[in-house]
Amino acid sequence: MEFADAPDEAEFRAGLRSWLADNLLAEPAPLHGPERAAFWGAWHRALHAGGWMGLSWPVEVGGRGLAAVYEAILNDEIGRAGAPPAPHVGFLGRALLHFGTVEQRRRHLPPLLSGDEVWCQGFSEPGAGSDLAALRTSATLDGDRWIVRGQKVWTSDAAWADWCLMLVRTDAGAAKHRGISALIVDMRSPGVDVRPITQINGDTEFCEVFLDDVTVPVDRMVGTPGQGWELAMTTVGYERGPADVGFSSRYVRLLSELEVFAAGADLTAHQRLQLARARVHVEVLRAHVLRSLSSRTDGSPPGPEGSIDKLLGTRTEQALHHAAADLHGAAVVRGAAPVVRSEYLYSRAASIAGGTSQIQRTIVAERVLGLPRAPR
Ligand SMILES: Cc1cc2nc3c(=O)[nH]c(=O)nc-3n(C[C@H](O)[C@H](O)[C@H](O)COP(=O)(O)OP(=O)(O)OC[C@H]3O[C@@H](n4cnc5c(N)ncnc54)[C@H](O)[C@@H]3O)c2cc1C
Repeated sequence: MEFADAPDEAEFRAGLRSWLADNLLAEPAPLHGPERAAFWGAWHRALHAGGWMGLSWPVEVGGRGLAAVYEAILNDEIGRAGAPPAPHVGFLGRALLHFGTVEQRRRHLPPLLSGDEVWCQGFSEPGAGSDLAALRTSATLDGDRWIVRGQKVWTSDAAWADWCLMLVRTDAGAAKHRGISALIVDMRSPGVDVRPITQINGDTEFCEVFLDDVTVPVDRMVGTPGQGWELAMTTVGYERGPADVGFSSRYVRLLSELEVFAAGADLTAHQRLQLARARVHVEVLRAHVLRSLSSRTDGSPPGPEGSIDKLLGTRTEQALHHAAADLHGAAVVRGAAPVVRSEYLYSRAASIAGGTSQIQRTIVAERVLGLPRAPR
C-alpha cells in the first residue's frame, strides 16, 4: 500500500491542518457534568460548520461523499493537533444508512451529523449486556403505534439525547435473536424516565432509562420487524472498529506527552517498565492499523476483524493511562492531577464499553480464526 497522500488528499490535509490551527478550542474539556456535554456539542458543531463531519457519508444526507481514507486523515490530523476527537456519532447513523427508509435518513441524518440533535444507543439492559439477545424491553403493536415497556441501562448521553436507537422485543414467541426489532424513540416522549448514573470519575455520561408505555409511531421502526439483531450487529461493527491511523495518532501524542513529562525524572524500574509497555502497545497498534487500512478504504462495512482493533486499542489505552497514573504517583490519589486521574479511571471502561474484551476474544476466535465454537 502507498502511504503517502495523493495530491487531493494532501490538499485536504493542508486545509484541515490550517482550520485546526485556527479553531482549536482554548479551554480543555470540562471533566464532567452538563458543561462537558456542552463542550462536546460545541466542538461537534464547529467541526460540522468547518465541513469536517460526514466526510464519507452520502451528499444527500449532509455528507461530503468522499472516500473513507479522508476520515482517516481527519482523525490523524485531529490526533496530531491534540484536538478533541471527532464525535463518535457515526455508528448510530450508519445503522440508519444501512437499514433506514429514505424518509428516516433525510429526517434524521443531517441533524445527527450537524450536532443539532443528539442520539443515544438503547441496547444494553440489566441482564442483557454481553448476552444482548436476552433483552426484554417489549414493543407491542397497537394500531399505528408501538407501545414500549421496559428498561435500558448504561445508555451514554441519554440525559441530553433527543433520540434513541432502541432495541425492543416485538415477538416474544420467536427465537431469541429473531424476535428483536429497532425503533427510533423520541427521548422526550411521555413515559421516558432518564436517571443518570454517577461514575467513579464523577461524570454522569451514562444513565438508566425507564420506559413506561411509551408510544412510538410505526414509521419509526428501522428495518423490518425481526431485523433488529442484524441491525445491532452492523451497528456494533462500526462502533468497535474500524480503527484507523487517526485512532492511533491520538495515542502517539499521549505517549510523547508522557515521555516529555518523564524526561529527566528519576524513574523507578516499575515506572520505566510501564512507560516501555505503553510504547510497545502504541507501536503494535499503529503497525496493525497501517497494515489493515487498505482493506477499509473502500468503505465496505466492518466485519468481525474490528474486534482485533478494539482489543489492541483497549490494551493501548489502558497501558497509557496506567503509565500516566504511575508517573504522577501520589498526586493522582490526592486529587492533585485531576485529568490524569479521571482519564485513568475512565480507561478502565474501555474493556467493557461496546462489548467486553472477553466477548471480543470469542468473536476473534470463532469468526476470524474459525476455531470451534464453545458449547453454549
Ligand atoms: C463507558 C460505557 C458506556 C456504555 N454505553 C452504552 C450505551 O450507550 N448503550 C448501550 O446500550 N450500552 C452501553 N454500555 C454497556 C456495554 O455495552 C455493556 O456494559 C457491555 O456489553 C457488557 O455488558 P454487562 O455490563 O451487562 O456485563 P456482563 O455481560 O454481565 O458481563 C460481566 C462479565 O462477564 C463476562 N462475560 C459475560 N458473558 C461472557 C461470555 N459468554 N464469555 C466470557 N465472558 C463473559 C464479561 O466479559 C464481563 O467480564 C456502556 C458501557 C460502558 C462501560
